[in-house]
Amino acid sequence: MTKKNKRVLIAGAGPVGLIAALKLSQAGIPVTVLEKENQLLDDPRAATTHPATLEMLDEIGMADEAEKQGLVCDEFYFWDRPKNEIIAKFNHRLLASETKFPYVVQCEQFKLAKLALSKLKNYSDSSVLFAHEVIGVEQDTDKVTLIVNGPNGEEAATGSFLIGCDGGRSIIRKSSNIDFEGFTYPERFVVYSTPFDFEAARGCCYRNYYADPDEWSNLFKVSGDGPPGLWRAVFPTDMSQADEEVMSDKAVQLRMQKFFPKDSDYEITHRNVYTINQRVAKKFRHGRVLLAGDAAHLNNSIGGMGLNGGIHDAINAADKIIKIWQGEADETSLDIYDIQRRTTTHEFTQAQTIANKKRLEAKDAQTRKENLAELKEMALDPTRAKKFMMGTSMLSAVRRAATLG
Ligand SMILES: Cc1cc2nc3c(=O)[nH]c(=O)nc-3n(C[C@H](O)[C@H](O)[C@H](O)COP(=O)(O)OP(=O)(O)OC[C@H]3O[C@@H](n4cnc5c(N)ncnc54)[C@H](O)[C@@H]3O)c2cc1C
Repeated sequence: MTKKNKRVLIAGAGPVGLIAALKLSQAGIPVTVLEKENQLLDDPRAATTHPATLEMLDEIGMADEAEKQGLVCDEFYFWDRPKNEIIAKFNHRLLASETKFPYVVQCEQFKLAKLALSKLKNYSDSSVLFAHEVIGVEQDTDKVTLIVNGPNGEEAATGSFLIGCDGGRSIIRKSSNIDFEGFTYPERFVVYSTPFDFEAARGCCYRNYYADPDEWSNLFKVSGDGPPGLWRAVFPTDMSQADEEVMSDKAVQLRMQKFFPKDSDYEITHRNVYTINQRVAKKFRHGRVLLAGDAAHLNNSIGGMGLNGGIHDAINAADKIIKIWQGEADETSLDIYDIQRRTTTHEFTQAQTIANKKRLEAKDAQTRKENLAELKEMALDPTRAKKFMMGTSMLSAVRRAATLG
């Protein structure tokens, strides 16, 4: 391979692609990121960065800045929505002996992506090419070639390895004929953002999960453009409702007033509706191609694990490539990436997010009673609460991954 080809290609400049690019660049590896849009997407989507992920962001010099731009939050509450009663409070300080970060940081994903991009600019051998849509991928024994639609028409980009970070509809996954196994929920999630202060008015903390047999909900605070910040409320909505119906002012106000009635209309600064999947790629490695982030797995957002898992992929994949590059490992270590990340995605992220949704939406009175009683008991027992939070913080998943392969 020529020197020009000795680089790593990354498809997609979402937070996962840019974080992988930064980690590789910091190890002296030239990277080219190809992004189909003209600029970074500013869709707020992910908000919660868990302790296990903060540890990784710390290694690449992003944790402090994420903390400055976000909100530090050590608690989360479970509520019984029909009774408007807090059932259980969990505090990450119980994890103080396990991690330097016994808290989460509420930092919108576009801020993480922008931060990674600004740091990446310090590496002159690496570049991010916007308006470059990947349309195909080919590989042979020593290189990967991407076919790209760029501003000057079709062109090719060549590298030693490729990380496909091109989101849930990944062309890299599809071109590599990798099945995306799992299911799509029959309902969608609708998200509204409002500056209304739920902490002052309702005693909410920055992360709240509401169990309700009729309409569960999640309520989070993010920093937005600065104080006073924004609250994001998430509800399920049924597939038969058209987007315009779910997003109309009337529907938004009705839903918010049903959630927490108040005298005036809610000010809504952002609204969106998402299709929700639980899917995992059948393999995360295909020769010189690795899948990471939403390209490799999708899950419902209850518990805030999708992007976190994607960042764990990015760091793990970059680590494997760095070792190969430095001659400390051979290419079979890419299989270990597949084993570590795919196994923990199934065992932890998929299992927990499916369970989270079931817990909040339970309709059967007895099941609901048992669920809420279990949360209450767990919160009052520090040993059980800690074990539960080792899962929610994703520390257990990362430690399990380290034992695999
Ligand atoms: C409502 C909601 C709330 C969420 N909350 C959380 C949360 O709190 N915590 C959490 O961890 N996760 C959360 N998630 C999940 C999180 O948003 C995703 O996991 C995250 O966006 C994945 O990042 P990514 O970089 O893999 O993919 P993306 O963010 O989708 O980025 C993919 C990039 O690839 C580009 N691209 C696509 N196709 C091509 C192509 N052919 N060529 C070139 N470029 C291409 C896209 O333009 C995009 O820039 C939430 C999701 C939703 C919907």
